[in-house]
Parts: sequence; C-alpha cells; structure tokens
Amino acid sequence: MAAREGQNTFRFFTEDLNTAAWQRLALEQDLRRALEQESLELHYQPKVDLRSGEVVGVEALARWQHPVEGNISPMHFIPVAEETGLIRPLGEWALREACLQAMAWQSQGLPPLVMAVNLSARQLLQPGLADMVARILTETGLDPALLELELTETAVMARPEETSTLLQELKSLGVRLAVDDFGTGYSSLAYLRRYPFDTLKIDRSFISNITTSADEAAIAQTIIAMGHGLRLQVVAEGVETEEQATYLRSHRCDQLQGYLFSRPLPAGKMTELLAKGSRLRLPAQPSVHGEEVP
Ligand code: C2E
Ligand code: MG
Ligand code: MG
Ligand code: MG
Repeated sequence: MAAREGQNTFRFFTEDLNTAAWQRLALEQDLRRALEQESLELHYQPKVDLRSGEVVGVEALARWQHPVEGNISPMHFIPVAEETGLIRPLGEWALREACLQAMAWQSQGLPPLVMAVNLSARQLLQPGLADMVARILTETGLDPALLELELTETAVMARPEETSTLLQELKSLGVRLAVDDFGTGYSSLAYLRRYPFDTLKIDRSFISNITTSADEAAIAQTIIAMGHGLRLQVVAEGVETEEQATYLRSHRCDQLQGYLFSRPLPAGKMTELLAKGSRLRLPAQPSVHGEEVP
C-alpha cells in the first residue's frame, strides 16, 4: 500500500519535473550564466516633475535578453532569482551598475538625478544588505542622497520588525526610501508613518482609470493627500495619457513615470534624452488669478 502510494507519488513528481520544474531549472542555469557573463542590462525610465516637466530621476529596471527565448520579463526572472538565491548577486550587480551609470551621467555634466533601484522582498531578508549598499556607495562615489531604494509594502510587511531595523540602517546611510506599487498590498496604513519613507509611488492600477472613473479618481486624490499629509513625495506610476498627467498635476501629484513621457530606455538612449534636456509639456493650467501658469 505504502509502496504503491510511493510509486504513484514518484510518477506524479517526475511528470511535474518534466514541465514546470524543468523549465525553472533551465531558466535558473541560464540566469546564472547571464549573471556570470554580465549579459543582463539595466534600462532606465525617467521620472518627471509635474510642475517643471523636467526629468528629476530615473528608475533602473533589469532586462534579460535570453539567447533562445528572447526578452524575458523581470516579472518572470526576478521570482526565479529570489527562489534560487541568485537575487543576491543580481541585486548587487543592479545596484552597482545603476550607481556607476548615475556617476557617468554626472561626469558628462548632466544635472544630478535621483537613481532609483528596486529591492525585492527576499533581498530585505538578506544578511548584510545595508553593508552591501554602503560598500557600493563608497566604491562608486555616488552621493547617497541621489540613491532611492524602492520596496513594496508587501515586502516590508512580511517581517515588520526586522524590516524596521533594516530601514533605519539604510536611512542612516543617507539614501532615500520609496514605497513601490502603493495600494496593491493588504497592509495597514500605519506602517507608512512608522517607517522612514521619503516617497510613495501610486500603483499603475490606480492611475489607468482616473480620467474615466470617479471612484478611481477619488482613490488617487486620497492617496496623494495622505502622502502629502505624511510629508512624502508622491509619484504616479504607469501614466500613459496627457489627460492622466493633467489630472495628476491639478491634484498636486509631485512626479510621474510612464509611457506618456518615456518607456524604459537603454543607457545610451537615456543619455541622449537627458542631453537634449527633454521636458514633459502639458497644456497650460489656469491659476486661481486667471493668468496661465506654465
Ligand atoms: P516596478 O518597480 O513597479 O516597475 C515599474 C514597471 O512598470 C516596469 O515594468 C515598467 O516598465 C512598467 N511601466 C512603466 N511605465 C508604464 C506605463 O506607462 N504603462 C505600463 N503598462 N507599464 C509601465 P518592468 O520593467 O517589466 O518591471 C517589472 C517589475 O520587476 C518591477 O516593477 C520590479 O518590481 C521588478 N524589477 C525590475 N527590475 C528589477 C531589479 O533590478 N531588481 C528587483 N529586485 N526587481 C526588479
Ligand atoms: Mg519600482
Ligand atoms: Mg512600481
Ligand atoms: Mg509595479
């Protein structure tokens, strides 16, 4: 009986291994090789100030061009990296690469930008994370005030106590901290004031319908007001239309990021965009006194 059960279990398991697990394993090996051969890349997506239209920061986003499969989304390979421990070298590579790029832009005489780098849930549990960040800042020479680390609320809430200590450590290095994908987790709002965040990024899912749904608009407005009440800078993610941008500007959102202004770009293309001094231009906004504000 037990033996038969064992056999069935085994057969079931091998079938399983032939599909999903096998693919994972192959992907893991390929990802390991990509890291070793430094064939991953970072692309950069601008964040623009909604008052001036100027680029004030960029978010670094990992890209993997697989030799056979083509482009693999970070939504797919970051979880694989997290499950296999590869997130440690990947995270360190991304942070160093982003800091080096920020320094390169500075040395080309471009105005200083805030460089944002994502940290996944698993990275927050990684021993020595703050030391790694400190080491890379020293190595690359980037001003810590120009580095922003983006963390999701779900990642933060997974271990609220440990994360609190970690965030204090990171904050004491002088870096900025952002809550990413705000509104998608199920956490209490209390954490927002308990942790030393500087920036709140409203998730794309709340932005897509702000100009067509009164409910969605109310949610976005409320998040902006709450963020400001807590002295946080508020960034809207996934802004795709001019109407959305105009709405966000009129409700005092600080920055936007999204395809409207630019998709994430490879370093060379981003350098061109910065060198041109490209700005977001929105229709002039009538002020309370009746004159137009640029
Ligand atoms: P995220 O940090 O929330 O990044 C924003 C995502 O929204 C990016 O997807 C970006 O390409 C996409 N996006 C930006 N503007 C628009 C828009 O107007 N419309 C639409 N539909 N999408 C927009 P991407 O690059 O595929 O990255 C997905 C996620 O993977 C990121 O979400 C982040 O959580 C993770 N990720 C990416 N790079 C890294 C990395 O280096 N380290 C870690 N730990 N996670 C990363
Ligand atoms: Mg992010
Ligand atoms: Mg996000
Ligand atoms: Mg997101």
